[in-house]
Amino acid sequence: MTSQLEHERPAAQERTCDKHGPYTAKHFYGRTWAGCPTCQRVAGEAWEAREAEKKQLEADRVAAHRLQRNLRLSGIKTRFQPATFENFLSTLPAQREILTACRKYAETFDPSAGGGLWLIGPVGVGKTHLGCAIVNYVVRQHLMGGCIHGVHEIVAMLRARWGVKGAAWGSDGIDTEAELLEHLASVPLLVVDEVGGTRGSDDELKNLFTIIDARYCENLPTVLMSNLQPAAIKAAVGDRSYDRLREAARMLVLDWPSHRGAAQC
Ligand SMILES: [Zn+2]
Repeated sequence: MTSQLEHERPAAQERTCDKHGPYTAKHFYGRTWAGCPTCQRVAGEAWEAREAEKKQLEADRVAAHRLQRNLRLSGIKTRFQPATFENFLSTLPAQREILTACRKYAETFDPSAGGGLWLIGPVGVGKTHLGCAIVNYVVRQHLMGGCIHGVHEIVAMLRARWGVKGAAWGSDGIDTEAELLEHLASVPLLVVDEVGGTRGSDDELKNLFTIIDARYCENLPTVLMSNLQPAAIKAAVGDRSYDRLREAARMLVLDWPSHRGAAQC
């Protein structure tokens, strides 16, 4: 007759791990004792590290994908793709002052701050370079959407989508006029170049106002660039757009001689 004690499972067993030496196994699963706790912890940590790495790779992939899309949609022309604050020609104190203001604007860019910047000055002083440098910074450093388009370009882009209904493959989902209006109205930073360069038709002004008004209502910043004086800009974009754009925007006047033909335009 076996005693009660012989049937009783011991509460623990001293065992030895090949790697970590002696340990006390406290759990018995059917026929085997629990393995080395250090081995289990190491295996758990390795699994967590692999999972974290997988997650990071996926996040990097998504970020890279978003960056590529934002770059495609940035509107920056080939000539200005390398435009940065570092390669802006600034020999005059006034140039350095404007450069500092633009750089600070980009570095502290807040997509919910509303307002924006006005860069006013004649052709050839570097407005487009600075505008592209701001967009480049926002897209590459903040990893946010940002784009720069001339008014005439926005009009042409909208016109090209007239009557377009469906989606075209590989077009970043901006196929119809409504989709483009929505994109321009919601991108974190919109820089509108050559304001007043063309006097738009009523329909074109209406579209421009739709974009500007939507951005204004959502507190999205808009940067405006023009070689006209404010009164002439008002006449070119209409009173309503002008008031929306002017509100809370900082005006920077670029009043040094033109560098057209030199490094910047
Ligand atoms: Zn072990």
